[in-house]
Amino acid sequence: MLRPRYTPPNDIFPPNPWAIEAVRYDAKLAREFTGQAETMFALSNGYLGLRGVVEEGTPVREPGVYLNGFYEHRPISYGEHAYGFPKVGQSILNCPDGTALKLHVDDEPFVVPEAEILWYRRSLDLRVGALNRDVRCITPAGKRLCLKTVRLVSFAHRHLAAIEYELTAEDAEIDVMISSELENRQPLAIDNSDPRLAEGFVGRVLHPAGTMLEGQRAILSYRTQGSRLTLGCGMDHVIAAASPFTQETTCNDDFAAVVFRGVLGQGQSVRIHKYLSYHYSDHSTPEQIRSQTAWTLAQAIRTGFAPILERQRRDVDRFWARADVNVACENPRTQQVIRWNLFQLLQASERAEGHGIAARGLTGRTYEGHYFWDTEIYVLPFLVYTHPRMARSLLKFRYDMLDKARARARELGHRGATFPWRTINGEEASAYYAAGTAQYHINADIAYALRKYVEVSGDHDFLQRYGAEMLVETARLWRDLGFFSERKGGRFCINGVTGPDEYTALVNNNCFTNLMARENLRYAAETARELRERHPDAFHALVRRTGLEDDEPRAWEEAAERMYLPYDEQLKVHPQDDDFLSLEKWDFAGTPEENYPLLLHYHPLNLYRAQVIKQADTVLAMFLLGDQFTPDAKKRNFDYYDPLTTHDSSLSVCIQSIVANEIGYRQKAMRYFNFAAAMDLSDIGGNMMHGAHIASIGGTWLALIYGFAGLRDNNGRILFRPCLPDEWSRLGFPLTIRGQRLRVDIDHAVTTYSLLAGETLTFYHAGEELTVSASAPTISRPTPSWPAEAQSEK
Ligand code: BGC
Repeated sequence: MLRPRYTPPNDIFPPNPWAIEAVRYDAKLAREFTGQAETMFALSNGYLGLRGVVEEGTPVREPGVYLNGFYEHRPISYGEHAYGFPKVGQSILNCPDGTALKLHVDDEPFVVPEAEILWYRRSLDLRVGALNRDVRCITPAGKRLCLKTVRLVSFAHRHLAAIEYELTAEDAEIDVMISSELENRQPLAIDNSDPRLAEGFVGRVLHPAGTMLEGQRAILSYRTQGSRLTLGCGMDHVIAAASPFTQETTCNDDFAAVVFRGVLGQGQSVRIHKYLSYHYSDHSTPEQIRSQTAWTLAQAIRTGFAPILERQRRDVDRFWARADVNVACENPRTQQVIRWNLFQLLQASERAEGHGIAARGLTGRTYEGHYFWDTEIYVLPFLVYTHPRMARSLLKFRYDMLDKARARARELGHRGATFPWRTINGEEASAYYAAGTAQYHINADIAYALRKYVEVSGDHDFLQRYGAEMLVETARLWRDLGFFSERKGGRFCINGVTGPDEYTALVNNNCFTNLMARENLRYAAETARELRERHPDAFHALVRRTGLEDDEPRAWEEAAERMYLPYDEQLKVHPQDDDFLSLEKWDFAGTPEENYPLLLHYHPLNLYRAQVIKQADTVLAMFLLGDQFTPDAKKRNFDYYDPLTTHDSSLSVCIQSIVANEIGYRQKAMRYFNFAAAMDLSDIGGNMMHGAHIASIGGTWLALIYGFAGLRDNNGRILFRPCLPDEWSRLGFPLTIRGQRLRVDIDHAVTTYSLLAGETLTFYHAGEELTVSASAPTISRPTPSWPAEAQSEK
C-alpha cells in the first residue's frame, strides 16, 4: 500500500537543496527513527559503507560497517531438499566498527539524549560528501560543551574513512576521557518475521588472525572460514589539544581502544582526527592485510584531514557536474529528495570496481548484500549516461562470473550460461527457486544492459572482448530452455519461469521474459555476424572461447522470429503469461491496509492463484522495449495491469511513472514519481531502517530522464520527447553520450540542448532530427505539449 510512513517536518528537517539535515534535536524522533537516521546518514564509497551511527555509539539500532563483497558462506537448510537447490548461501558480513569515539566528562559517560540541547545540527552535506554534527549542550552535571564532528568515507581512497572530532569546554573546566574504539560486535539478534532481511550466523564468523598495536594505531585482522577471505581493519589518530592529553591503548582479538585523557580549561578545545582503514582479500595473508591497512592509515596521516576533505569535495563536485538533475518547482523538498537519491547512486557505485552493487548498496544487510538484476535494469542506465567507466566495470564484473554461470547451466541441464538470480560470489544463492532460479530473465536483463552500454558509450571494444561471449552463452540458454510448440502454432515457447512479478510464479510464456529473451537472441546473432564479417580476429577468439558453431546464430534468429507472445484478442492486451487472465482477481477491497506488503501476510500459493502483481512486469517490458508496442497497446496494457499492481516491491512505481508519462497520464506519472523519489526519505515501504532501496533510487533517475524528459534510446538512437509536469517550471541535466557531454534544459516553452564537451552529436527532439556541434553548441525547440490521451486518465 503506497503511503508515506513519515513526512519530515520542515522545522526539524528543512528542505535544503544541498543537504539532508536535522536542525533541531527532537528526543522522541531521535528515539523512534534511530534506524531510519542510520540509513539516511549512511556514508559509503561503493567499497566501504558505514551506517550513520553517532560517535557516542548510542542511541543505536542496526550498527553496520560493510565492505562490498566481503561475505561468508552459510549452509542453506531446506525442510525438503531437491536436486539443483543451492546448498550454500552467502551473507555480507558486518565488520568491526571503528566509528566510536565515546566521551566521558568528569567521569560520566556523555550521550546526547541525556544532555540539555542548546543548539543541534546533523547534516549530510551533499556538496562535500561528509556528515557533520554540531551539538552545543549542557551536561546533566551543568557543564556547557560544544561537540563538532565531520565524517567521511573517501571516494579518492577507497579503503579509508575519516572522522574529525572536536570538543570544547565552553563555560568551565572539565575532565575529559575520549575512548576511540574499534569493535567486532557480537552478531545482532535476527528478525525472522521478514524474509527479506539477512540471516544470522551461529557462532563466530570472523576468526581472529592477529593484531597490531603501535602508538595510537590499532589493527585487527581476521579470516573467514568458508569464503576464505582475510580482513584487516584499523584505526589511527592525531590529537591536538590546548593542554596535554595522555594516551592508553588496549587491544585484544575483538576490541581495540585508544583512550585519551586530559583536562580542558574554560574555552579550550581538543581535536582528534581518527582514520579508519578496511582491506580484505582472497589471497593475502593476515600479515599482508595488516600491513596494507597500516599503509592506508600512514598515508592518511601524512595527507592530513583537511586535504582529504578538500579532495572529497572536489570528487563530489565532479559527480554533480556529470550527474546533477535540477528541478525548479515550488516545493523545495523535491530538489533535496532528488539530490539525496543521486548521492546514493554515487555512494553505491563510485568505488565498486571489481564488485557489483547490492540491493541496499552498503547501507544495510537486507537481502544479504546480494547483487540482483536491480543493477542492470535500474542502476546501469544512470551510470551509462553519467559514468560509463563504472557501467563498464559492472558489466565486466558480470563477465567475470561467466564460468560459474556456465557451471550452473550445466547443473540445471541447460546449454550456455545461467546467471544467478542473487549472488555475491557468482554462485546462485537463492533458496526459494520459484522467486529465484526461475527468474531466468536476469540473463536477458544483463544482455539488455550490455547493449545499452555499448550503444550509448560506443565501447565496441568491450563488446568484442567480453560482451559477445556473454551474448553467445545467454542466447544458447534461451534456445535450449524454450522449444517450438506445435500446440502454439510452431511458436517458440519458454515455460516454467518467473517474470519480474514475484506474486506470479513458475508460469509459461511470461510476456516480459519472452520479449527480453527475443532481444537477447537477436542481439547475440547480430553481434556474432558483425564480428565474423568485420572483426575476424575477435570472431576467432570468440569461437575459441565458446565453441560457437556456424549454424547457431541462425538458430537463435529463428527462435527470436518465432517467439510466442501471449495476446488476448478479447481484451486486446498481452497477458502477463499464458494463464494470468484466467486467474481470479485479487480481492483488493477486502484486503486491509495493514496486510501490505502481501508477502508478509499471505502464503505464496494464495498470491500465485490470483491476479495480483507485486511490481511492474508487462509494464516494465513496455518501457524497456517500448518500440515494440503501439501507443494504443501501451495504454490498454497499462490500464489493465496498473489496478492489479500492489507495488509491494520498490522496483515498481518508478516504472509505472515512466509509462504513465508516455501515455499521457500526467497525474499518475507525478504521483508515482513522488513515491519513487521519496521511497526512502518518506519511508514508503516502511523498511528504510534496513537500508536504502538502490533500485528505486536508480529508478527515480529513470523516471526523471526517461519519464519527464522523454528520453528513448532504442538501437542507440537518442530521442527526447519532454513532457514537463505543471508543478515544475524547469528540468535540467547533463548526459554523457559516446564520450560527449550534452546538457538538456526543459521549461514549458522551450527545450534547449547544449553540447558541453565533444565534437558533434545528433539526436531527435519530438521527431525532429537535431545536431549540436562544437561550432553550434546550442539549439532550442518548443517543448511539446502533453499528448491528448491525458484527458482519459483514470
Ligand atoms: C523484488 C526483486 C528485486 C529484489 C531486490 C524483490 O522484492 O521483487 O525484483 O530484485 O527485491 O531488490
